[in-house]
Amino acid sequence: MIKVAKFGGTSMADASAITRSANIIKAEESRRYVVVSAPGKRFSQDTKVTDMLYACCHELELDGTCEDTFAKIRERFIGICADLGLSLDITPYLDKVKEGIYKYRSTSYCASRGEYLSGVIMAAALGYEFVDAADVVVFTCDGEFDAASTRSALQAKLADTPRAVIPGFYGADEHGTVHTFSRGGSDITGALIAEAVKADMYENWTDVNGFLSADPRVVDNPKLISKLSYKELRELAYMGANVLHHESIFPVRSSGIPINIRNTFAPEESGTLIVPEVKDSEVTDTVTGIAGKTGYSIIYIEKSMMNNEYGFVRKILSVLEQYNISFEHMPSGIDTLSIVVSDSSIAGRESVLLDRITKAVAPDHIKIKSGICLIATVGHGMKSNLGTAAKLCGALSGAGVNLRMIDQGSSELNIIVAVDSRDYGKAINAIYKAFKC
Ligand code: ADP
Ligand code: ASP
Ligand code: MG
Repeated sequence: MIKVAKFGGTSMADASAITRSANIIKAEESRRYVVVSAPGKRFSQDTKVTDMLYACCHELELDGTCEDTFAKIRERFIGICADLGLSLDITPYLDKVKEGIYKYRSTSYCASRGEYLSGVIMAAALGYEFVDAADVVVFTCDGEFDAASTRSALQAKLADTPRAVIPGFYGADEHGTVHTFSRGGSDITGALIAEAVKADMYENWTDVNGFLSADPRVVDNPKLISKLSYKELRELAYMGANVLHHESIFPVRSSGIPINIRNTFAPEESGTLIVPEVKDSEVTDTVTGIAGKTGYSIIYIEKSMMNNEYGFVRKILSVLEQYNISFEHMPSGIDTLSIVVSDSSIAGRESVLLDRITKAVAPDHIKIKSGICLIATVGHGMKSNLGTAAKLCGALSGAGVNLRMIDQGSSELNIIVAVDSRDYGKAINAIYKAFKC
């Protein structure tokens, strides 16, 4: 039996959390490969080490120095090692990291160093080999992740390494230049290692009892989901349930490796099991979970008889393509089309976009509405239960929330609604209450 165990930021935040994590690892022989994040927040006003590192890079760019912020990072790691009572001297590692930050002036290099130092410390605490992710997680020189090369590098290295600690979040290209995944990407590293070593289980240790049916910062005490399918996970994680990075599913999917989300601070809880498929007979609720994200805009386009116009949508999408904008949803009516895009993808280009689309399709009306959030209601039970959309819309109108868009996925696994961002919490709570999930 082989388990890959990934420990997130709160599980690595200080010596006491690291000791808990190390005890969990030592409690089972099978926990042979350990992936760690950078130390996260110790209390709500605290700053994550990764955020401090991003700040270092920013300060260096603006002021040519990051001495004060780096001093805080140094203090944090030295404190952790002292509290753990390790014989490891972390000072030369910190000196080398600082030298690299000044030398490379690269955001990715800088951001990755929290995981690197965390990995060095956890390896020393466990007596496991430290395997630098820069040697086994491969990116192309353009910063694209290279799955095939990573699999071979990991398999070659780990075949001879019975127990190892590998830092999450980063890798390197053939020149040794460091690249990172997007935020929360240590979850992806864990999944890559699970696939490479053909693990029986990928354990993801965090600070909640498992995948909850809604964000616990939005809904009071949401229900724990004991079993979730890969598909449901992908929908919920992509739509904001960031307890697990939504891309973590891809490496484990082909081998069907289950993921177990566990709580480092309550290891007696069995957590959430994420499996390739949930059988129809196991589906008890209509809705498995709800998740949402703010930061969207809707481009509303209206033109009489647009349905009869060949290439109408294609022309609009070519404009988006020219500006490297991908869309999230695109529901249409007879004479109307709504395109949901992220605010960040159109920032500063709103008027030029309106202008280009107007030139391309001559709409009767076109406008952009910003301040939108998307909420996904997800569950395999939806396809066998009539009236789910009606119930959802009723819940929203009952709470006085104006529905701006509704879109049901073709697999009937999810219904996505767009509402004003100011109604985010109200809408999620209303849907949660309606489905008692
Ligand atoms: P880690 O540092 O362990 O990777 P994260 O902060 O990335 O932890 O993810 C855990 C957090 O995700 C929880 O503390 C919780 O606030 C948040 N979260 C958001 N949505 C959910 C959800 N549906 N279920 C559980 N946690 C969620
Ligand atoms: N430390 C990185 C972040 O804060 C990666 C991770 O925690 O997974 O995003
Ligand atoms: Mg995380």
